Amino acid sequence: MTTPQSWEARADEYSLYGFTDLPSVHQRGAVVLTHGEGPYVVDVNGNRYLDANSGLWNMVAGFDHKGLAQAAKDQYDRFPGYHAFFGRMSDQTVMLSEKLVEVSPFPRGKVFYTNSGSEANDTMVKMLWFLHASEGKPEKRKILTRWNAYHGVTAVSASMTGKPYNSVFGLPLPGFIHLGCPHYWRFGEAGETEEQFTARLARELEETILREGVDTIAGFFAEPVQGAGGVIPPSKGYFQAILPVLKKYGIPMIADEVITGFGRTGNTWGSETYGFVPDAIISSKNLTAGLFPMGAVILGPELTDRLQAAIDVIEEFPHGFTASGHPVGCAIALKAIDVVMNEGLAQNVIDLAPRFEDGLRQLAQNPNIGEYRGVGFMWALEAVRDKATKTPFEGHLSVSERIANTCTDMGLICRPLGQSIVLCPPFVMTPAQMDEMFEKLDKALGKVFAELA
Ligand SMILES: *Cc1c(COP(=O)(O)O)cnc(C)c1O
Repeated sequence: MTTPQSWEARADEYSLYGFTDLPSVHQRGAVVLTHGEGPYVVDVNGNRYLDANSGLWNMVAGFDHKGLAQAAKDQYDRFPGYHAFFGRMSDQTVMLSEKLVEVSPFPRGKVFYTNSGSEANDTMVKMLWFLHASEGKPEKRKILTRWNAYHGVTAVSASMTGKPYNSVFGLPLPGFIHLGCPHYWRFGEAGETEEQFTARLARELEETILREGVDTIAGFFAEPVQGAGGVIPPSKGYFQAILPVLKKYGIPMIADEVITGFGRTGNTWGSETYGFVPDAIISSKNLTAGLFPMGAVILGPELTDRLQAAIDVIEEFPHGFTASGHPVGCAIALKAIDVVMNEGLAQNVIDLAPRFEDGLRQLAQNPNIGEYRGVGFMWALEAVRDKATKTPFEGHLSVSERIANTCTDMGLICRPLGQSIVLCPPFVMTPAQMDEMFEKLDKALGKVFAELA
């Protein structure tokens, strides 16, 4: 119920919302924000919210980091924009590529820039198609991902995404194959141990490769922790089980580290946290601490050499975006990497992760919380009607939306995802702010579960 000419009414009249539960927004009105302070954001009515989602995972340094804003202003004064075509690029672009290879798990490599994570995944797929074709295998085009994966929204990355909502677009495109989601609590079968579950997923991968034909598969993409699928860490030994299968058949393994990169799991990379080295890394979101739209494909040595050889044949890689390697974005990313890795932000994630987990463990004693899961500063609580049988709440009750809306009313932003609540706060969160998050969440859970009892 919004007043005519209010910010909420104007938002609704002239803007289309992405990924938004419309009945809920029409009833409550959009939240229109003006600015932020640390991990808090403030709306047009002066309400203050602790944003336990870092915007959309990306505002890891909070909403008013002076050094980052200054790096942007300085670069706008120095050289406010340029492209990376025709053999030209800004000095900032050169420096960021050096930095990204330096902080990558690769001894050497090369970087290609995009404006988003979706475009970085599309770019990687085109690179694979291009290099396989150049190596005389043009039919090596199929892409393997997993159910509940989120790789983006452009036509290719949406096809990689393993969510049912893309059927409204007639996606996935042909040749995009989804394997099992490594969520043991939800998908483990009766009597199956976690190790057996992991082994089953590795077998499924091998059977799929053999069924489809090795020579039809271009690559395998995985998030180290599935993010928008509901914060799903891999089952025990998952990457150690599937990597040898991929290696055996020579299939490139691409880590989509758009969320897990730069400190979210405690280490620079999620792949580091889970003990594996991919063939390439996709980065975005916190690459610029959310201050600039930017994505990057970081190729390890083998893919660098193979792609370079393919490019040398036709003397051009016919791909790129107008703003690829934008100097302001690169200057911000250089500063963001420094701030996150060297100014104590990643360290704060490591220091506070045990406190985070303790808080969740306590909340999970609630009979309507089935599971808490996550790592570092990315966690989810999953609501259930019945804990013993893991039976979800009836879909029409929109349990997670109710919890999130109740939190919003209390000044806490968290995200409903399926039947789960996602918490992925900025890395600048203090212990006191973490306590505030848990107090509000506890109250909201109590209120909503009482209503639905
Ligand atoms: C957000 C996300 C993307 C897409 O990034 P956009 O910048 O929104 O296009 C891709 N992969 C993962 C893992 C993501 O979380």
